[in-house]
Order: sequence, then structure tokens, then C-alpha cells
Amino acid sequence: MIQADLHIHTTYSSDSTVTPKILVEKLVAHNSIKVAAVTDHDTIRGLSATRKLAKAYTDILIIPGVEISTPEGDLILLGTEETPSQPWTVEEVLDFARDKDCISVVSHPYREYGMGDLASNYKVDAIEVLNGVSTPHANKLAQNLAKAMRLPGIAGSDAHQSSELFTVHTKVQAPLDIDKILKAIKKGLVSTHSTSRSIHF
Ligand SMILES: [Zn+2]
Repeated sequence: MIQADLHIHTTYSSDSTVTPKILVEKLVAHNSIKVAAVTDHDTIRGLSATRKLAKAYTDILIIPGVEISTPEGDLILLGTEETPSQPWTVEEVLDFARDKDCISVVSHPYREYGMGDLASNYKVDAIEVLNGVSTPHANKLAQNLAKAMRLPGIAGSDAHQSSELFTVHTKVQAPLDIDKILKAIKKGLVSTHSTSRSIHF
């Protein structure tokens, strides 16, 4: 079983101050969360820098990802090292996800840039039911949506600054291996948790 923060922005997102170096250092220092997904806005450029730094450590793992802005709301793709071709309609992005066998996640459905109830019109793989910067109410609505759609729920901090890293995490019943983690998420072998401060660093 691993604990992962599945939604993180690095400085390759224009609105984040989390450098790849800070992310890797915090992941190395954390005593239970050892897996982090880099999900920058509309780019995968932060990935190689982060991976290069993470390479020196055998007990941490960086999951490649991206958060795509579609007209209907944000969609996270986990397990991709490229971005879909434009225009980024929901259908295009989901077709890409199926082609590339990566995981599509509706991020913070009930917040600004969230898809809201529209999500139920689409075949996605998971719903972000616990977002570190959403209100408890918005997260509750997201949980209800996942239940109604019978989809796995995942957690991600949506950190844009270092103090926001790892505030929530997803427990995945898988070893420290990207393919196995992604498969387990798809199967719903996951649970979502707020990270207790006492076990932080
Ligand atoms: Zn985000």
C-alpha cells in the first residue's frame, strides 16, 4: 500500500511557487507520503526536471500527469507524458486518455473550473473527491457524484505553494510502481484521507 498526493502544481504552472526541487525534498522528507503526481496546468514540462531530481531516491515515485483546461472544466490525466492535441474538448481529452491508456479524473468538480454535474455525461475513470483547497461542502458534493457514477474517488492537495503539499492523500493498494498504482486506481483500490499534521515531517 502506498500513500500518494495525486494533484500537484510546480513552477511550470504559471500560478505555482512549488519548484521541482521543493517537491522532491518534501517527498523525501515525508514519512508516509512517497508518491506524487505532477499535474501542471496544460503542460508536462515540469515532469522531466522533477523526475531528474527524484531519480536519486529509490523510495519515492513521481507519477506523470497534467491538468487540462477544457471549456467545461478541468480534467486531470494520470500516467501520460504528453498532452492531447488541441482543441481540448472533453471528448478529445478523454479519447486521448483511452488511446494512451492513462487515467482521466474530474478535478474539483464543484469549484471554479470544475465540471460539476456535467461530469456525469462523460466516461471518466475517477473523480477527485477530496481536493486540498476545496471547501468541505464542495468535496462532499464530489463524493456524492463519484457514488452516483460508481467511480473511484481520489485525493490530491492541488498545491500551488509548498505549505499546501500533501494536505490530503490517496491510499492505493499497490506497490511503488507507476503501472500497478494506475491499475489499482482504475479498479477502485483506493481510499482518500486528510493528512494528519502530527505525521507531517
Ligand atoms: Zn490543479
